[in-house]
Amino acid sequence: MSRHEVGPSLAWSTVPLGAMSLIGGEWVSSPGASRSVVSPYNGAVLGELREASPDDISRAIEDATTAFREWRAVPLKERAARLFEFRTLLLANIDRVSVSAALESGKTFGEAKAEVLKAIEVIEFATSLQNGDLGGAIEVSRGVSCEYRREPLGVVVGVTPFNFPAMVPMWMIPIALAVGNSFILKPSDKVPFTPCVLGDLIKEAGFPPGVFSIVQGGSSAVEQLITDPRVQAVGFVGSSPIAKTVYARATSGGKRALCLGGAKNHLIAVPDADPDITVDGVVASFTGCAGQRCMAASVLVAVGDVDHIIDRIIKKSSDIVLGRDMGALIDKGAVVRLTNAVATAARDGARVRLDGRNAKPPAGLEGGNWFGPSVLDDVRPSMECSCAELFGPVLSIIRVRTIDEALELERNSAYGNALSVFTTSGHVARYVSERATSGMIGVNVGVPVPREPFSFGGTKDSKFGSGDITGWGGVELWSNRKKITTKWSTQSDKNWMS
Ligand code: NAD
Repeated sequence: MSRHEVGPSLAWSTVPLGAMSLIGGEWVSSPGASRSVVSPYNGAVLGELREASPDDISRAIEDATTAFREWRAVPLKERAARLFEFRTLLLANIDRVSVSAALESGKTFGEAKAEVLKAIEVIEFATSLQNGDLGGAIEVSRGVSCEYRREPLGVVVGVTPFNFPAMVPMWMIPIALAVGNSFILKPSDKVPFTPCVLGDLIKEAGFPPGVFSIVQGGSSAVEQLITDPRVQAVGFVGSSPIAKTVYARATSGGKRALCLGGAKNHLIAVPDADPDITVDGVVASFTGCAGQRCMAASVLVAVGDVDHIIDRIIKKSSDIVLGRDMGALIDKGAVVRLTNAVATAARDGARVRLDGRNAKPPAGLEGGNWFGPSVLDDVRPSMECSCAELFGPVLSIIRVRTIDEALELERNSAYGNALSVFTTSGHVARYVSERATSGMIGVNVGVPVPREPFSFGGTKDSKFGSGDITGWGGVELWSNRKKITTKWSTQSDKNWMS
């Protein structure tokens, strides 16, 4: 199979599709299992995924180990120069990467482009590390100084989900490489192609072979990577049950791990909220990427009478055109899951005010995984749709009387990624921000993703491990602080440390 084989019915695609592993700087067509990957847009075969065999994975780790010995000694400014080059190539190829990400994940081209731009922000942060304060020394006693310096960990691994084929890998790769590690990416087997395009560009940017590798595969590849003693650290992003398992497996073997999980994000609207900002923010949050974002709005907590806002949210959501404003779900299983979730909510007493079941597919894309925006009103906290992560364009409205009741709902959630409050009152904004339990808080922002250098990470079952994955959190995750205490001369006024 050529890596540049294009799926038969996607002649409009300009993307080379054929997912192989990148090992020792070369594309490897592994003898492991192979299968077809289809587009969520129309069910057409996009290309073939070849899983890396256990031998290939072992070789990837060995090559990464060898590459690390030299890469760690390359000055940070030179490592950053490779990342600069990669950023330039990524910008020049942004349409190619975005088409690939849209085709395989089902999101719109605009959403895919936005995720690449966010990925570029992380690269820019990583390149800026060369000008940052990554060490320092203080004279701690007469003639004695203590210094700390950042040291890379060695071979580190990133395991990523389907919903952001370009951005989530880039949460990890640039920072891990900048601080001197060699990195092995295990992308989601649902979206194996975009990582290959990124791998091509990383290769072209001149990183030494083995510094960056890709191994394609599923859970057995992850198991091998996170239990291999040559691997020092694991970054994982995906659903909570798997994040929890991967965290336990990796840390029980002595590895550093940070595993981000699922979410159930609450948006609070109070009567003084600006209607325009609130309607736009809520609709974009729960329908963007067809709700397949770990920062998507899932529960709208309506405090008091905000019906004038809710009516407009429903109107705006019902105007959304599938295939133009909103993309497809990742697979048929997701369509069935959401269909059942809406049916269960209705059976349990929720009012279905907008029903995305049996949404009309865009013309010519009937084979895709389509599900329209759905709004469930009068939802009670005990219902499945108010507790479970649905991961689709479904907004559950829970009505409460006070802000404290709204906060209690959020506090009782198993997850802790995001909470946003829509208000024109600084007091309410502060009150909520200080008391909410989520890791990322928004005020009049529907998707409160922190921009670099602020780091990304939630709480509770949305994150296993400490710290965050991007920004300075990423620097902490992928490096150690080495402490060096130095004395060059004997001092006359000795103390206990001299
Ligand atoms: P997933 O958990 O099914 O898969 C994530 C990764 O784990 C993939 O690479 C997959 O191949 C691998 N994997 C699957 N089963 C495994 C197993 N048994 N053992 C080891 N590895 C396994 O997640 P997904 O469906 O691809 O992505 C959607 C989920 O990711 C949602 O829950 C979403 O909230 C979450 N997510 C979280 C964040 C965040 O920042 N917290 C960001 C994006 C997505």
